[in-house]
Amino acid sequence: MLFQNLYILPLLLLLPLLPWLYNHLFRKFKPKTIPLSVNYHFTRKCNYECGFCFHTDTNSYIAPLEDGKAALKLLAEAGAKKINFAGGEPFLYPGHLGKMVDFCKEVLRLESVSIVSNGSKITESWIKAHSKNVDILAISCDSFNEETNIAIGRGKGTHIKQLYQIADWCREYGILFKLNSVICQYNWQEDMNAHIARLEPYRWKCFQVLLVAGENDSDKTKRDVRNFLISDEEYEHFCRNHDKNTCFVPESNKLMAKSYLILDEHLRFLDRTGQCPSGSILELGVDKALSSVFWDTNGFKERGGIYAWNEEQIQKEKDVEHSHVVNTNLGASVGGSCGGTGGKNGNGVDMEDIGAGAIH
Ligand code: SF4
Repeated sequence: MLFQNLYILPLLLLLPLLPWLYNHLFRKFKPKTIPLSVNYHFTRKCNYECGFCFHTDTNSYIAPLEDGKAALKLLAEAGAKKINFAGGEPFLYPGHLGKMVDFCKEVLRLESVSIVSNGSKITESWIKAHSKNVDILAISCDSFNEETNIAIGRGKGTHIKQLYQIADWCREYGILFKLNSVICQYNWQEDMNAHIARLEPYRWKCFQVLLVAGENDSDKTKRDVRNFLISDEEYEHFCRNHDKNTCFVPESNKLMAKSYLILDEHLRFLDRTGQCPSGSILELGVDKALSSVFWDTNGFKERGGIYAWNEEQIQKEKDVEHSHVVNTNLGASVGGSCGGTGGKNGNGVDMEDIGAGAIH
């Protein structure tokens, strides 16, 4: 009996320490999350007023250039291989943007640098100056009818002309041209096939319009998406009419909602589950900031978040396909109606090829 009590007593004393011990060990042995591909929304400011916008113009802050660069360096050290600059409209700050893309390629040597823009402020001189450091330029366009673009809030009637101009510049200066479209109540019945065949984007992402709490979900938020929403059946209708394009990459609400890792203008990771953003990665470091938010890494992989994201990888992919064609003598072609990479939906690179095994 005495022996038994002596044995139990230390255990009872250890009991209050169990939560601390669990947290400590859990942190220590939990595999690290690698922020392989990060979307840096360095500004919320925008010159357009899209009714469905989910990263709205709620302030005009941008981090000083040196802080932005320090954050990018931390991300690269934590394993980032691709940075996508987004907004707001990144080209409202062409000098700032140019310095960051140059830094990512020339100093950090990242595999891929991309930009998402509405296109309205892009100039040939900017492209000429920075094309060697930009792998992908993605332009948003939701309709090939200017009246529809105006109704959505995308510009004042010159959006499509500028889109074609940028596609030409991308071809001329060796940047992969990508197209992003948001499928909503205004365009789900539109037939865009002829324009896609002419534009030949490398990838064409078609997002189902998304409601994000606190950004566009009511008449109290800066934008109110409710009149733009479509049913899953309407979205599938649009997809069925366009999925013959090999560059077509559909992204439903389910895949999109939490699968993007977003660094905001204050250098914080955003959380789409309703929790607060992390603290600044300059103060917390990447690991700690990342562990305080939810990022759906399975969703990231499921939506094809890893793909051939620079010319070199595309060339590799084409070489692999070519040798497959030679070996099997099947005569399959690369690309199809888009300037695509081959493979289903243009995202056929094997995840292991670029280290996706490192994601947990
Ligand atoms: S162009 Fe993009 S950032 Fe600007 S309002 Fe439209 S969706 Fe929002």
